[in-house]
Amino acid sequence: MSRFQTACKELSNGKMTATYDFITIDEPITSLSYDTENGYFVDPKNIENIIKPYLEKEDYDHIFVCVRLGDNEHQNDIPVYDWIGLGGMDYLGIGFSNIRLPNSSRSYTYKYNAGINTFPEEVFLHEFLHSLERNAEEYGYERPALHSYADYGYEDKKIVGLKQWYQDYMNCQIKTDNGYIGLNSEIYKYKPNHSDNFQFSYKMDEFKEPENIIEEVRMMIKKAVENANHIILKKENQNSESNGI
Ligand SMILES: [Zn+2]
Repeated sequence: MSRFQTACKELSNGKMTATYDFITIDEPITSLSYDTENGYFVDPKNIENIIKPYLEKEDYDHIFVCVRLGDNEHQNDIPVYDWIGLGGMDYLGIGFSNIRLPNSSRSYTYKYNAGINTFPEEVFLHEFLHSLERNAEEYGYERPALHSYADYGYEDKKIVGLKQWYQDYMNCQIKTDNGYIGLNSEIYKYKPNHSDNFQFSYKMDEFKEPENIIEEVRMMIKKAVENANHIILKKENQNSESNGI
């Protein structure tokens, strides 16, 4: 993570900085999600109750769930396919990724070694960039897909991986016949919305399917009316205050 912090700053030429908290959770995860393409993974709903208390204390912009899904004795229980990071997900608007810890502690995936891997933080940066890629799309900025490096002549190299691609991606320096492309630097100015951005928030259970849509809508209208009354009340107070002056 400390290498990720440095990489964010250096590869973006200072446009993006990161700070992080590292939280070790001992509470067992009692459910996993499954996807036909990627196999088992940790979805926000699998750990919502575990992470909630931390999110209430601090406003985070991204969550990396680092988890060992199997070990050497149990590697056949949950077979290891080739993904080590899975991103592009979100939890209440916050970027959410899985980083899969290798089953063997001898793996060099996350270790710096001059002869084998000098960019071990790559998976963290890659998954985080999936969130920025997605944000760019949602805000209507053109950007190449994060996985389309080969289309622009970049190679996933042995010791440094796709470092050059990420650097050019983050600085909008990918050369094409029609000029340079990449992440629009405006994207660094957007942060996910946090609860304190909303003056009157209506708490919703994100994973609850509405059993009765009419009832759900009625509830929301009722809440909205309550909030509206609140606003009117507040306005009146403000008016009387200014009249007083
Ligand atoms: Zn990816």
